[in-house]
Amino acid sequence: MLFSRMLIPTLKEDPSEAEADSHKLLLRAGMMRKLTAGIYNYLPVGLRALRKVENIVREEMNRAGAQEVLMPAVQPAELWQESGRWNVYGKELLRFKDRHGRDYCFGPTHEEVITDLVRREVQSYRQLPLNLYQIQVKFRDEIRPRFGLIRGREFIMKDAYSFHTDEAEAEAGYQAMYDAYNRIFTRCGLKFKTVEADTGPIGGSYSHEFMVLADTGEDLLASCTACDYAANLEKAEVILPANNPAVPAATGPEAVHTPNVRTVEEVAAFLKVTPQEIVKTLIYETDKGPVAVLIRGDHEVNEVKVRNLLGVTDLILAGPARVEELTGAEVGFAGAVGLNIPIYADQAAAALGSMVTGANRTGYHLVGVAPQRDFAMAQAADLRTVTQNDPCPRCGGALDILRGIEVGHVFKLGLKYSKALKAVYLDADGAEQFIFMGCYGIGVSRIVAAAIEQGHDKDGIIWPMALAPFQAAVIPISVNEAAVVDAALRVHEELEAQGVEVLLDDRDERPGVKFKDCDLLGIPLRVVVGPKTLAQAAAEVRHRRKKDTAIIPLDDLIPHLKERISRELHG
Ligand code: ATP
Ligand code: MG
Repeated sequence: MLFSRMLIPTLKEDPSEAEADSHKLLLRAGMMRKLTAGIYNYLPVGLRALRKVENIVREEMNRAGAQEVLMPAVQPAELWQESGRWNVYGKELLRFKDRHGRDYCFGPTHEEVITDLVRREVQSYRQLPLNLYQIQVKFRDEIRPRFGLIRGREFIMKDAYSFHTDEAEAEAGYQAMYDAYNRIFTRCGLKFKTVEADTGPIGGSYSHEFMVLADTGEDLLASCTACDYAANLEKAEVILPANNPAVPAATGPEAVHTPNVRTVEEVAAFLKVTPQEIVKTLIYETDKGPVAVLIRGDHEVNEVKVRNLLGVTDLILAGPARVEELTGAEVGFAGAVGLNIPIYADQAAAALGSMVTGANRTGYHLVGVAPQRDFAMAQAADLRTVTQNDPCPRCGGALDILRGIEVGHVFKLGLKYSKALKAVYLDADGAEQFIFMGCYGIGVSRIVAAAIEQGHDKDGIIWPMALAPFQAAVIPISVNEAAVVDAALRVHEELEAQGVEVLLDDRDERPGVKFKDCDLLGIPLRVVVGPKTLAQAAAEVRHRRKKDTAIIPLDDLIPHLKERISRELHG
């Protein structure tokens, strides 16, 4: 490939619109351009990187026995009404009408379409198991599209769906995908962690996410430093220490005047107690009515856990007026004693023998409040978020809290969609049975950005060999010296002939400009052809990540490069 013939509009400056490094670099390296919020054009170099990801995903999916299909982006509303999701999916679902006034959506995911296909085409147990996947464009009208390809509105996903006769077979299908995903992300050259993920009210460990570790990641995960436990922070379990002494308050509760003292810090300072002795009372609105959640002052509520415990989808902190209506006091003075809504307590709060709470009276707190004696709880459960100081729920070891970018998700669906859409098969006895399902997503375009978040420096991108749009660049120091140009052309031609993906920078630019662009594009191996090395029948080879340079004789150059590429691709 000749640089001069390609559309590679590199930029010298960071574009002001971009926050994340990957977003800046994808724009600066001329790999993509924004069309509108969260929607991008992939330019030639960007598309090459995207295709690399797609090919790895495709190879490993095929190897795992999945079959590729391609489903439409536009989906009829009827299917979503049948599954019950038309009214619950919310504003991320882009809905529109055709000329006849019929409702459609642009697919954010394809459970409905694939289940519809399978219920029509699969009749017998003999046709199962089946795993169908596609690599296709999705649209989600994200409330905050950001970080370029990491959270786009239109993006490329690999989505797979598996169909099984029973639970055990579905389990095996899930495991096969889990293994394939580990191979995919390893081959992509990513540093990643597989974590247990929240499954909603279904519960159980039926879902795993694959997280690319990066400080800029939007997801938080808890990872044990001693065993292999790792979970999304939404899901990570808290174990209540056994030695938690619950000595009930001898007296109390006693109201104390605490004017303008609302936050945990203010209460702790004013009453000279520790945050561990204070219990926050959070008032939530849910689709089952208002509830109170009690959390120790040094802990944070985990709303995913609360939602799952209550079996609700809506969970919103009540506004000041509603808090006042329910507690009789301004925000900051709510407490459990005398409260007339269901009270759910985190287990650590419930285990306190004596606590400080709001008094449900503006300007007052209660001290010496004892759970059970002074108020009743609907339930005590694990409702808080794990912190760095918590022990691993499996082995008691130390937990690390890390940041990650979710690039993949595997999920056991069970009978959710097959029941809603009546997807059945006939078993060996001719009896109708529902089909067990699993679904498995990979953020193909997000991986391109995640790889850059993990691999870059001040000069540009540092691709893993497997994702690099070009494996090598050949740079003639000058395009005005025939011998240099000839040698560079020969090296370029020979590399292409041997199947190496190579970019020849044939532009009439200063060497410094070419080196800068080569670093920016992140091409792993750079071959510089100049008069000095040519006089020794050699060229200079530099590795983008290692930054080491070596003078390699022209005769050895091609095998040398091929060997390095192959070593990095195959470990
Ligand atoms: P997130 O929590 O990041 O919104 P999700 O749970 O909505 O992700 P899934 O529905 O499981 O994601 O989709 C499968 C994969 O698609 C995700 O693992 C992620 O890699 C990718 N993905 C999801 N939303 C986006 C987006 N807006 N832009 C790019 N990739 C995305
Ligand atoms: Mg999402």
